[in-house]
Amino acid sequence: MVSDSPSSTDFIRTIVAQDVKAGKCGEKVHTRFPPEPNGYLHIGHAKSICLNFGLARETQGLCNLRFDDTNPSTEDEEYIAAIQDDVRWLGFDWGNRLYHASDYFEQLYQFAVRLIQQGKAYIDSLTADEIRAYRGTLTHPGKDSPYRNRPVEENLNLFTHMRRGEFPDGAHVLRAKIDMASPNMNLRDPTLYRIRRAVHYRTGTTWCVYPTYDFAHPLSDSIEGITHSLCTLEFEDHRPLYDWVLNACEVMCHSRQIEFARLNLSYTVMSKRKLLQLVNEGHVRGWDDPRLPTLKGLRRRGYTPESIRSFCEWIGVAKRDGIVEMALLEHAIRDDLNRRAPRVMAVLRPLRLVIVNFPEGHVEEMDAVNNPEDAGMGTRKVPFSREVYIESEDFREDPPKKFFRLAPGREVRLRYAYIVQCVKVVKDEQTGEVIEIQCTYDPQTRSGSLQSSRKVKGTLHWVSAPHAVPAEVRLYHPLFQEANPSDEKNGHDFRSALNPNSLDIVTSCYVEQSLIGAKPFAWYQFERQGYFCVDPDSNENKLVFNRTVSLRDSWAKIEKSTKNVDKNVDK
Ligand code: ATP
Ligand code: MG
Repeated sequence: MVSDSPSSTDFIRTIVAQDVKAGKCGEKVHTRFPPEPNGYLHIGHAKSICLNFGLARETQGLCNLRFDDTNPSTEDEEYIAAIQDDVRWLGFDWGNRLYHASDYFEQLYQFAVRLIQQGKAYIDSLTADEIRAYRGTLTHPGKDSPYRNRPVEENLNLFTHMRRGEFPDGAHVLRAKIDMASPNMNLRDPTLYRIRRAVHYRTGTTWCVYPTYDFAHPLSDSIEGITHSLCTLEFEDHRPLYDWVLNACEVMCHSRQIEFARLNLSYTVMSKRKLLQLVNEGHVRGWDDPRLPTLKGLRRRGYTPESIRSFCEWIGVAKRDGIVEMALLEHAIRDDLNRRAPRVMAVLRPLRLVIVNFPEGHVEEMDAVNNPEDAGMGTRKVPFSREVYIESEDFREDPPKKFFRLAPGREVRLRYAYIVQCVKVVKDEQTGEVIEIQCTYDPQTRSGSLQSSRKVKGTLHWVSAPHAVPAEVRLYHPLFQEANPSDEKNGHDFRSALNPNSLDIVTSCYVEQSLIGAKPFAWYQFERQGYFCVDPDSNENKLVFNRTVSLRDSWAKIEKSTKNVDKNVDK
């Protein structure tokens, strides 16, 4: 469940509170999350979802889910289902308020007819290139189209014929009659309707004229009684047009548009167009590839909805664009899983260790703590035997200084078990590679026993060889080698920054017996290594794990090294 407690206050929450106090919101604050169904949701959308649904929840208001589906050529049913699934997964609920801008096509058309009747809109028959040329530039005013003063009757007539499909695409557009000399380019007679022959995933071929975002969005907000229409900064310059449309259409409910900064995250890309390219060109394995910042990808990677909500709360909402460190997102998932993930032992790159003085065939059940952060999670039995696997990097034949793990003659503790001493190293005769370590154990040192207090410098995780369960582990590294791959300076294509080594598949891992039957998406801490979750590719014969995040917390380091760092990096 999502807590009801208001997030830290930000400028939007302050404005909304003032509007409520001034009685501007009627009965309730009403927001909406308006995705275009042309791709999967990403962590940037999560920021908008947490803001819109969060605000509604905190004020006992309402938040709608509205598909902004006015662009038939890129939209698809597949995205509709995935988006709903993701919003629910994040922990939010739109009740029975699921809407589509396409539900309003007839109403929007009638609003347009009224604008024409009142002389506030006209049909322009210039070509797209001509319209662009007439528009002027930031330093030069635009020019009126020769069609700007068409009589109302002629405009109405043309608009009707446009709707009936009597003109080819691009032959005419409907434009608002505002001001071709306005310093705001968006007010230079913006297009409200265009002819487009495309099959819409909901309305089919009923329509061949489609409203633009600038026309459909404010009116959809108004139709739904939205009090606060929260959008990202690139729409700031569109706000005068948003208000013009609502005023010109003389609507009952005039929603208030407020803009906030988009979320950008280091070492990844967030635009749906780029994500689609990565998927279609096979740079990743699909929309839910755990390397992507999509919600489906993060989920498969092992991120929890709670961690994503905390992250969104930490970054806050502000009016200045910036790039948030990926390390902060990783900090959020560590913080959550540290409390919740059961600890288990798994060996990713196994090296056989034989305890020569341990009786053959003998098995001891060791008590292992499931989560030192939460005694309520109890303990489990882990079998221990004469042969175990340890991590090959935990042994060095020639140990450097400060290497406190296993080496010839050295002693270490096997976690929850005994202290062992390395007495022999077995090598492959051909390659010289170390293939087995032989040790003796000290039966007096069993963990938890009275004599177990003898200290050694290193403790290693292990898996009993006869009980070991084979598994595949997928290790992920950043998808891009540059912090800001979208920086398109010097014609730089974001794909040239792709990291060729972002996926590392380790196939011959061993995990402890208790993981047999682990369900997809279940998370664990593999002791000393990181947080992992079960990939849905797992089946009865083969367990597959994704590394969500290693245990090394670079954000904690960043925070330590910068005194008084405010976690709300976006403020
Ligand atoms: P993209 O640029 O990734 O294609 P978009 O803005 O076109 O995104 P929409 O489906 O229109 O995607 O977005 C739905 C809502 O989510 C909008 O209100 C948009 O402002 C918001 N949103 C999209 N990306 C971000 C982001 N990176 N940070 C915060 N909010 C975002
Ligand atoms: Mg958009």
